[in-house]
Amino acid sequence: MASRERTFIAIKPDGVQRGLVGKIIQRFEERGFKMVALKICAPGRAHLEKHYADLSKKPFFKDLVDYMVSGPIIAMVWEGLNAVKCGRMMLGETNPQASLPGSIRGDFSIQVGRNICHGSDSVESANHEIALWFNKNELVNWESAMYTWIYEV
Ligand code: GDP
Ligand code: MG
Repeated sequence: MASRERTFIAIKPDGVQRGLVGKIIQRFEERGFKMVALKICAPGRAHLEKHYADLSKKPFFKDLVDYMVSGPIIAMVWEGLNAVKCGRMMLGETNPQASLPGSIRGDFSIQVGRNICHGSDSVESANHEIALWFNKNELVNWESAMYTWIYEV
C-alpha cells in the first residue's frame, strides 16, 4: 500500500539544543504522517560514520561526524503516502541558504553544517537507515483513527 511508505527523519544535535523538537514533530503530525518510531539517542561515532558512509570521501566528513556526535539526536520513523519525497520537501534543501521559508531548514537554520534535521533521500536508503537506527520491535504498527480523513481510500 502506497500510504505505508516509511522514511527515517532525525533531529540533529543543534535542533535538539535549540529546542525545536516539538515544532519539527508537530509539522509531520499535522501534515498527516503517522509516527511509527521515536527515540532520543547518542549512538556514537562508529554508528554515525556508518549512517553517512556514502559521504566518507567528502572534505567535510570529519566535521559532519563531530557535529552529529556533539549531542543527542531524535531518531524517528514516519509513515504515509510518499513519505520519503514529501519528508525531504518538508526539510528543505541540504543548504539552508537555498531552503524556502516554510520548510524546516528554511525557517530554522542558516548554514549547511548546522541544518538541524535529516531525512532519507530514497525509499531504498530509508529502508537501510530504518534498519540501522531501529530494532524491529521499536517500530510500532498501529492504525490511525484519522486515516480515512487523510486518505480517500
Ligand atoms: P542531506 O541529505 O540533505 O542531509 O545532505 P547530504 O546527504 O548531501 O549531506 C549530509 C549532511 O552533511 C548535510 O545535511 C549537512 O549537515 C552536511 N553537509 C553536506 N554538505 C556539506 C558541506 O558542503 N559542508 C558542510 N560543512 N557540511 C555539509
Ligand atoms: Mg543525505
